[in-house]
Amino acid sequence: MIQPLETDVCIVGAGMVGATLALALAGSNQRVIMLEARKLEGSTSSDDVRNTALGFGSRQLLDRLGVWQQLESDIAEIHSVHVSQKGSFGVTRLSRETEKLPSLGYLAPNQKILAALYQLITDNKHIELIDGVGEVALDQYERHVNIMYQDEGEERLVQARLLLAADGTNSSIRSQCKIETELTDYEQSAVIANVSASKFKHGVAYERFTKDGPVALLPLANQEYSMVWTMRPDAAAEVMALEQKEFLTQLQKHFGYRAGLFESYTRRQEYPLRLLRSKTVYQGRCLLIGNAAYTIHPVAGQGFNLALRDLSYLAALLNDVADPGLEVYLDQYQQDRKSDVDRIVNFTDGLLRAFANDSSLLVHARGAALAILGQSSFLQRQVSRQGLGLFQHDLSASQPQSKMISNE
Ligand SMILES: Cc1cc2nc3c(=O)[nH]c(=O)nc-3n(C[C@H](O)[C@H](O)[C@H](O)COP(=O)(O)OP(=O)(O)OC[C@H]3O[C@@H](n4cnc5c(N)ncnc54)[C@H](O)[C@@H]3O)c2cc1C
Repeated sequence: MIQPLETDVCIVGAGMVGATLALALAGSNQRVIMLEARKLEGSTSSDDVRNTALGFGSRQLLDRLGVWQQLESDIAEIHSVHVSQKGSFGVTRLSRETEKLPSLGYLAPNQKILAALYQLITDNKHIELIDGVGEVALDQYERHVNIMYQDEGEERLVQARLLLAADGTNSSIRSQCKIETELTDYEQSAVIANVSASKFKHGVAYERFTKDGPVALLPLANQEYSMVWTMRPDAAAEVMALEQKEFLTQLQKHFGYRAGLFESYTRRQEYPLRLLRSKTVYQGRCLLIGNAAYTIHPVAGQGFNLALRDLSYLAALLNDVADPGLEVYLDQYQQDRKSDVDRIVNFTDGLLRAFANDSSLLVHARGAALAILGQSSFLQRQVSRQGLGLFQHDLSASQPQSKMISNE
């Protein structure tokens, strides 16, 4: 008989969402055990070369958890966004002055965010992180969940009141809970890379709308741009196969010379643009969060920002409760977070449909969307504000007003 490790909360998945969630919950007096499939060597993690655009609300949360302070030298601020449209001379500029904000947003490399999170987790006595775990299986009971996993060939067992699945888009916990999902494939891909350009300007981001989809350049602290270039999957496959020089030439042709000459780039990666949404976010004592609950296409730059609002709400809701797995809390979480999730999903869905390629109707819609965007600097501003993941609400706007039942 295996001796169980008992805890209030077990989080499966120590990606950016699971790791931030652990810190937020530990601050809410919940004991946390985290299980991660990857072996986390040192404090860095993966070959993830992505960067994440963070809005103001995300900064507030990361600040409160002590993550921001560790990251400060790796964060670039965005002071203005230059929005243009291929084939049109119109340019719209968003700036912190016109928006009356200290900054339009921030950009940080994922690897640095993860390294800061793991360092804080290691130092936190309320969190136990177990990495390199094998397959995870669960059994639900009325008052707890049993989570079985393999650790170096040995069977182990965690007994938790609440299981939080932060195990990503292909969540095995979601499958085991038989939670259904809706998948929308936009038949578009994003090619990303960090590129250097001869006229790099600190604080200045660019977004260019083209008939094939938007391309964004966001400034990084190391004076490169984080580039997200959207196109059809067949075009993406061609772009991924280009020789280095030819890749830069094609990017230059597509983007123009606003940032000067493109000189070099780091490794390219391609991501399909899909929207995956779970039909419910909880079942029994298991709750999905982050990409496991909904995966939003990268062009929107919203997935992590949205998940931070979710987990901040959740940690506040579960603060000091005796049994965090009670349905009443999970249901309140689902209901109260729905409108924010719907808003982001609908916005990103609308944006991508406008740029999708697969039917004449959509091509027509895309043409119309571009025409409208071209005529309306107000709309360009709205699309860019949301589409770059900037300007998130103040975090206090997404906190629970009250608990539906009092703490036991
Ligand atoms: C190209 C790109 C750019 C993006 N840019 C932005 C942006 O600018 N702003 C923004 O807000 N969002 C952005 N996003 C979205 C953001 O990256 C995601 O919202 C975020 O990474 C989701 O993190 P996660 O922790 O939920 O999932 P993941 O990062 O997938 O982490 C899941 C973790 O679970 C682990 N795991 C999986 N299965 C198991 C198992 N069975 N047992 C134990 N562990 C397991 C994995 O090893 C992994 O560590 C972008 C996404 C992409 C693809």
